[in-house]
Amino acid sequence: MRIARVFPTKTSMSPDDHDVYFGEPGLFMPEYDEVHISVAFTWDLERAKWLKRQWEFIAPVKIGGPAIDGEGDGFVPGKYLKKGITFTSRGCPNRCPWCFINKPLKELDPVLEGNIIQDNNILACSRKHLDKVFQMLSRQHAIRFPGGLEARRIRYDIVERFRSLRINELWLSYDNDEAIYDLMKAAYLLKKYFKRWKLRCYVLIGFKNDTIKKAEKRLVKTWEFGFLPFAMLYRNKKGDYPKPEREWRHFQRTWTRPAAIATKIKELLN
Ligand code: SF4
Repeated sequence: MRIARVFPTKTSMSPDDHDVYFGEPGLFMPEYDEVHISVAFTWDLERAKWLKRQWEFIAPVKIGGPAIDGEGDGFVPGKYLKKGITFTSRGCPNRCPWCFINKPLKELDPVLEGNIIQDNNILACSRKHLDKVFQMLSRQHAIRFPGGLEARRIRYDIVERFRSLRINELWLSYDNDEAIYDLMKAAYLLKKYFKRWKLRCYVLIGFKNDTIKKAEKRLVKTWEFGFLPFAMLYRNKKGDYPKPEREWRHFQRTWTRPAAIATKIKELLN
């Protein structure tokens, strides 16, 4: 069965083979048996419905994806995400107020191969599951954890396991002021073995009463701990950015580019 996979938004995780599309169908299309529209973000739901109408004359259309049903059990590596990306679990036991992942943790079996681990909170998984994941990772190169690692779950034994792998990037997160102590402890354990370019940290900015000044302080702190920060600008379920949007988006751009970050840090710390 030939399936056209359609995505409302192109991201760094989108697959890029011949059956992948990011908008309406073109004039000369191959024959398809089904069209699957995969929606990753809640704010793309309206566009997904519009795309459904555009694709209906090609083949029967199904809409799914993380914003609708989590893609949990039917996940096939490389199908809706770029090759190399894998999920070994879905959901998270925490309920952070800014996060849209509102599903209990579920460990997926079998553990599917991949060097880019996109789990929502992999370190919350059981020891038995982690054993299987680390075993799978021992066969991989250029390993990345862009799904994010919860700082308070980074312990000595976890660091030892990371050290045994070919790690490219470890991503942690710094979402609010209270998270600072866990991040500090994680930094202490990790930076003995991993350089700043391998230690990345998402810093949530623009949530609730945040200000650019407060956000900048968190980003600088993250750098001082030994991480290369990456600003994540909060968007609500409708996809709205915090106000004033122009300032926040400009600020975020600076804090996502390594060269701009290094220049900014020099300016702020000298
Ligand atoms: S720990 Fe991460 S994945 Fe879990 S609820 Fe909080 S932000 Fe979401």
